[in-house]
Amino acid sequence: MLEAANIEYLVVHCSDSADDEDVSARDIHAMHLGFGWHGIGYHRVIKRDGTIEHGRPDCWIGAHVYGFNDKSLGVCLIGRSEFTDAQMRSLETVLSQWHQTYPKAVVCGHCDFSYTEKTCPNFDAGAWWAKTQSAQSTLS
Ligand SMILES: [Zn+2]
Repeated sequence: MLEAANIEYLVVHCSDSADDEDVSARDIHAMHLGFGWHGIGYHRVIKRDGTIEHGRPDCWIGAHVYGFNDKSLGVCLIGRSEFTDAQMRSLETVLSQWHQTYPKAVVCGHCDFSYTEKTCPNFDAGAWWAKTQSAQSTLS
């Protein structure tokens, strides 16, 4: 079980599939089963049209960030480099919800973990999140 109090990171990923390819949580589930995992490793998937799909439940340890799965939740944007506005709005929705439940958790990208050479999700998720949050506080 993944204890809410242990969540330190909210990790943003991308599927690294072509930007015009419409991949779903079900496709990723099948792929991760193929790796011999217990199905999809992410907790949320955001499709190209912004649809938010559920992967693993939040209480279930994910398989998305080696060595940190027991203290993080993972969300995966479908695509590689050009994410749609709808996706970014949905990412904000997912992270805002998580942020309310896990206020101490830090938003970061997979690439921010030093063990990996991956560039996933191919943008600075932490900086984007900080900008989003400050834009919100200016509005309110
Ligand atoms: Zn990743």
